[in-house]
Amino acid sequence: EAKRQGRNTWQWYRGRQVEQTLGDVLLRNDLHTALSDGQFELLYQPMVEALSGRIGGVEALVRWRHPQRGLVSPEAFIPLAEHSGQIIPLGRWVLRQACREMAELHARGGRAVPVAVNISSLQFRRDGFLDEVLGILAETGLPPALLELEVTESVLLDGAELAIELIDTLRGYGVSVALDDFGTGFSSLSYLRDLPIDKVKLDRSFICDTLHSPRSAAIVQGIITMAHHMELRVVAEGIETVEQQRELARRGADLLQGYLFSRPLPLADLAALPERLPAAPSSPSGSDP
Ligand code: C2E
Ligand code: MG
Ligand code: MG
Ligand code: MG
Repeated sequence: EAKRQGRNTWQWYRGRQVEQTLGDVLLRNDLHTALSDGQFELLYQPMVEALSGRIGGVEALVRWRHPQRGLVSPEAFIPLAEHSGQIIPLGRWVLRQACREMAELHARGGRAVPVAVNISSLQFRRDGFLDEVLGILAETGLPPALLELEVTESVLLDGAELAIELIDTLRGYGVSVALDDFGTGFSSLSYLRDLPIDKVKLDRSFICDTLHSPRSAAIVQGIITMAHHMELRVVAEGIETVEQQRELARRGADLLQGYLFSRPLPLADLAALPERLPAAPSSPSGSDP
């Protein structure tokens, strides 16, 4: 009986593996036409200033509206697009679309908050990326100061010097750069030392833990304090509860982002948001540091 079950389990597992691989292959094929068929769209998630509750920026997050599968998560297709090289035209589309939509929003009298765009390391390290960014800014009319690029530590793999130089150049034009998913990589501290960035985004995995694990809390506090000494701003992502909001604000995070404030929204809904997002009830006096 046990043997039979074991075998069934194995077959089930193997079946699932094959199915996933097949699913990946199908998705990858569909990626080729998705861009020309207009199946991608952007959502925007606000980042809220921890002290004032004001919206201090928004992050553009891509979605694939697949004709058969419905909305496909970027976690599923970005890796495939990176593997197939499709990330280059897709990434260019995302950057252009985000800049265009934000420029339009401002032209209609919307608030001037920076838009953050996630950039794959493959895209970032490719020749011509700087010209692409400058070209898109010129074409859309978005002021460079309203564009922020979110990169991860992997931009430093094979060739830290080029990445550092490119970030310096971008910042010279007024574009800012944030280091995303901070704390999840390999040698984050030396990266922080070398990269001439403006901002770090603390990974969500620390935020979930901060309230319950003293070690996570110590890491979070250490990163925030260190970042501030380097004159970097800190964004805490994945804030879902009022407790997390209070905790991260108390520890000095400058900006907070997460479902507590808003899910990623279509542009029209973003434009309709109030200037401040409902902050939590103020913390009882005495709990502040
Ligand atoms: P990321 O850049 O770290 O983005 C944050 C992710 O966390 C987003 O997932 C966002 O929807 C989600 N999130 C925000 N607040 C909360 C919260 O309170 N709780 C939880 N559980 N999740 C929250 P999303 O949109 O599925 O994107 C996933 C990842 O895909 C992004 O992580 C980014 O690495 C990548 N990605 C998204 N759009 C693009 C893009 O246009 N280009 C590239 N290269 N990568 C992208
Ligand atoms: Mg990001
Ligand atoms: Mg992140
Ligand atoms: Mg992430």
